[in-house]
Amino acid sequence: MGMTTDKRKERKGIVYLVGAGPGDPELITKKAERAIKEADVILYDRLVDKQISSIFPKSAELIDVGKESDYHKVPQRKINKLMIDNAKKGKVVVRLKGGDPYVFGRGGEEAQELSACGINVEVIPGVSSAIAAPAYAGIPVTHRDYASSLTIITGHEAAGNTIQWDLLANLNGTLVILMGVSNFRRNIKTLVKFGKPLETPVAIIERGTMPQQKVVIGTLESIVEKAEKEGIRAPAVIVVGDVVNVRSNAQAQKTSS
Ligand code: SAH
Repeated sequence: MGMTTDKRKERKGIVYLVGAGPGDPELITKKAERAIKEADVILYDRLVDKQISSIFPKSAELIDVGKESDYHKVPQRKINKLMIDNAKKGKVVVRLKGGDPYVFGRGGEEAQELSACGINVEVIPGVSSAIAAPAYAGIPVTHRDYASSLTIITGHEAAGNTIQWDLLANLNGTLVILMGVSNFRRNIKTLVKFGKPLETPVAIIERGTMPQQKVVIGTLESIVEKAEKEGIRAPAVIVVGDVVNVRSNAQAQKTSS
């Protein structure tokens, strides 16, 4: 008994920045699953699917950082402090994020902060919604005949970090927009203003890979109205480009539940 206690004292804490995948619990990696099973503390986001929480160990302390009070997220500095304090106590901390932790998940910022505090940190990549949501809707984000490049942007940029819409409007590859629902109309207008043809195909995929997945297809001209009619809400991935027309019946099987 004494030995176990000593071992625990000496154990050096670690934070795993883990991608939980886009929703379908079968899209979580083996490595993510292993880290989760070893975890003493799990800090998870709003976008992490309920079904994934079924693999959380009973012994782990669970912290929902997607929600502090009814409408507010736990502030970033508080999340950082929770990770740092627990790792310093020698705990195995899993910071679980939707999709991939380094694709618009603030994972990069968290890794920097943890490293600066001398905390061991390891990243476990995940399947990003940017690619998986279109795939489950039958859309390949690249295709030899239609798109040789893929650009992933945020529709909700941080102040002062400006997206080059003029350049994006003139690229002939695929454009994928994350966090794009609230500024949807404005961003579509901007692409058109900078010369993207009105007939460019657009898809919007809400809750991709989940049982509630919803897909709306249109063009730059029609999509805003169609999406409004269908009541599309976040989280959704927007795909702009000719690949939208290559939808096949190779649609992936959504989780049944
Ligand atoms: N790290 C995540 C993205 C975080 S930003 C990833 O790699 O997937 C949050 C945005 O991701 C949402 O606004 C939405 O655009 C997108 N998103 C995440 N999960 C999604 C899902 N299941 N279906 C559609 N969009 C999703």
